[in-house]
Amino acid sequence: MSPAADPSGPGASSGGVRLTVWGAGGSAPTGRAGRARFGGDTVCFEIRRDGCGSPPLIVDLGSAARDLGRTLKAEALATGRPTEAEILLSHLHLDHIIGAPFFAPFYDPASRIRIRCGLGEDSGFARDTLMAFAGPPIFPIQPIHMSEPAWDMFRPGETFEAAGFQVTPIALNHPGGCCGFRIETGEGAICVIGDHEHGDPAIDAGVAEAVEGAAVMLYDAAYDDADYERHRGWGHSTWSVGGALAARAGVGLTLFHHHPPELDDAALDLREADARAAYPRARLARQGMSLRLADGRAELL
Ligand SMILES: [Zn+2]
Ligand SMILES: [Zn+2]
Repeated sequence: MSPAADPSGPGASSGGVRLTVWGAGGSAPTGRAGRARFGGDTVCFEIRRDGCGSPPLIVDLGSAARDLGRTLKAEALATGRPTEAEILLSHLHLDHIIGAPFFAPFYDPASRIRIRCGLGEDSGFARDTLMAFAGPPIFPIQPIHMSEPAWDMFRPGETFEAAGFQVTPIALNHPGGCCGFRIETGEGAICVIGDHEHGDPAIDAGVAEAVEGAAVMLYDAAYDDADYERHRGWGHSTWSVGGALAARAGVGLTLFHHHPPELDDAALDLREADARAAYPRARLARQGMSLRLADGRAELL
């Protein structure tokens, strides 16, 4: 399943910011027919200013990055301009990088791509890890070399600019470390919280502060309350904790993501019904979903 051709390129209507959910799954991709509506690819989000040909800001390269890469390649061919993109990696677990070797712009030497990650002492840690994964003997060729992306580092709380947005990384609680992001778009803030397990008081306080007043929050809700009891310490959270956080912080719209591969559409429908009954401004993210931010408000498209 692939989102419709991205209409946010040159010539599209201007004045807003578009968020596209290319993949909302966690842990492993699933191609089961029973996941046709919520989608089986793992996390990849695209944030882009409408109508001015600005580069996309991409969060994570889960299996859905393959579809996003194909769309960016088609755009580059149609416009004659090589792909420019800024990529943020929340961490390096497989479900967040598995799409990297299949991301078409990596194969175009003319692409201009910057990748940032917050793990390790310097950017070499993420670069070496990704290149080891996306290269022999795990993958037949080394696509990352072909576009020579620039690599960079970030630290929680240190704001930087990427793709024309102000990005502030947020420390999260996850095995091996992970960073979320508050992304100020000028049309409202988008917060990406995942992967993350609630329960560390200092980290939870930082997350609560970071998501205050956001127009949109994407939150790791791999579990409901009952599932969570069986998975304490696995590094993920619940829709009930995310919904309560959003309500306290005045978040406009919350999209829960990191859906486990074993849940089918029917199970996710039930989960969404429960979540919406408790938190009407919350939804489960679906592959192909997009929304537009303007004047601090988010509208599902
Ligand atoms: Zn994950
Ligand atoms: Zn993870």
